[in-house]
Amino acid sequence: MALIRKAAEIPLLRTCDILVIGGGPAGIGAAVSAAREGLDVVLLEKRAFLGGNITACYVENCNYFLHNTPFKSEGIYAEIEQRCYTEYGNDNARVYNQKAFSSEYLKLFLDRFMQESGVKILFHAFVNEVLMDEFHIEAVIIQTKKGPMAIQAKQYIDTTGDADVAFAAGVGFDQGRQQDGLCQPGTVSLRLSGADTTALLQDGRDGLSEIGRAFKIAYRTGKTGLACKRQDLPFGRLTYGGLISYVNYSCAYGLDPTDVQDLSKGELECRTYVYDIYRYLKKTHEELKNIEIASIAPEIGFRDSRRIHGVYTLTIEDMESNRHFDDVIAVFPRFYDMLAPDANMDGDGSVQGKGYHGHIYEPVVGDRTFEIPYRSLIPKNVDNLLVAGRCLSSDHVAESGVRAISLCMMTGQGAGVGAALAIKESCAPQKVSISNLQHILRAQGLKLPHKEHV
Ligand SMILES: Cc1cc2nc3c(=O)[nH]c(=O)nc-3n(C[C@H](O)[C@H](O)[C@H](O)COP(=O)(O)OP(=O)(O)OC[C@H]3O[C@@H](n4cnc5c(N)ncnc54)[C@H](O)[C@@H]3O)c2cc1C
Repeated sequence: MALIRKAAEIPLLRTCDILVIGGGPAGIGAAVSAAREGLDVVLLEKRAFLGGNITACYVENCNYFLHNTPFKSEGIYAEIEQRCYTEYGNDNARVYNQKAFSSEYLKLFLDRFMQESGVKILFHAFVNEVLMDEFHIEAVIIQTKKGPMAIQAKQYIDTTGDADVAFAAGVGFDQGRQQDGLCQPGTVSLRLSGADTTALLQDGRDGLSEIGRAFKIAYRTGKTGLACKRQDLPFGRLTYGGLISYVNYSCAYGLDPTDVQDLSKGELECRTYVYDIYRYLKKTHEELKNIEIASIAPEIGFRDSRRIHGVYTLTIEDMESNRHFDDVIAVFPRFYDMLAPDANMDGDGSVQGKGYHGHIYEPVVGDRTFEIPYRSLIPKNVDNLLVAGRCLSSDHVAESGVRAISLCMMTGQGAGVGAALAIKESCAPQKVSISNLQHILRAQGLKLPHKEHV
């Protein structure tokens, strides 16, 4: 059943050149890169802080997979990484996570960094509606305590992770894996305080990795007695003060990340697993006997949901063959990580079989990379919108590489500069000069191949 709403006037809150919706990794990249091109940029975020999954789901050791590889962080991500450590320091005791963020410090840093970059931030600004004139977005509507309000821009960038703006504008999308539409599980991360850091690191050991390995064996031999179907137990930072700042465990499977009823079910289910794993760890490991739950992530986090129908859809075959695109806007180490959407951990984690028989986990291999084309950020049928981050146009398996946090920030940069050029060159984002786009992205710290070298 559907009800009909009467048309109403909506107050115009403000106007700007470029409106970025979603203040996660992609939105940060987009807003800063556009502001650095001299444009008036507003960033909308539904939560009260920036950082997306890094700060809201405690995913702090974003680039852990670059450890012991020839690759280094690039662009705005590298700048944030370096400046945030220098200015706030961190208390990381595990060698493995030396480069992980403290996400609470990151929140503080981002507030300052974004404002210094000239980006205007509006928190508590949830978007699920747009005003359209055929294929053109006229305004985006935010839901506020004072009712709906409009914000008008020349160009819009959707970095909501779920492609909420593109969806509202009528852009087509795919979601989940091909055969059944299932997405990867939703996760509610937690933090534990009171760990015995000295014992966990005694004689050069990495006690948390040992606990993770022991858990996997115990789960597979049916010895944990836990209800959650998650078979792995990855930990993030361990501080000298005994804080384990990221436990990536409590997962709910089979959810639609865009469905309000599924989201509620997932939050409730995951929080029971939070308590289960806390009690299990406290009981099972001497070094953790004094732990307490320090915090539970404010919201369930997702690794994939809508993927827009773009002018070009990036495929796993493109990535596996390191296909070169003339409109390349980001080059990234080949790395895939897809948690089995149905919790089936059979298979060897290889990308062959496309994860349809289990999970995918392929680490970086040598110096292999893949490229992202600008066309994958351009939705079909809307002429003033770009989409960056995990919801850009890709197939489901490709998304397991596209979703890497630092790459989301790089694709954000591509969108930010693309939107800025569309304004400067008075054309649609699809028509901007690719050589200008790549030139500016290089100047902003991204390593892109030169035509003569491919
Ligand atoms: C538990 C977990 C572990 C992970 N581990 C890793 C890892 O180790 N390394 C790694 O690289 N990646 C990891 N990922 C994946 C990574 O976190 C995401 O792919 C990445 O954060 C996507 O970035 P994004 O900017 O596209 O979206 P998000 O990080 O989801 O950010 C989207 C932002 O938009 C805001 N927003 C959403 N909808 C709206 C709306 N309608 N209106 C206004 N604002 C809105 C959100 O509040 C959020 O701030 C993990 C993900 C999860 C959930």
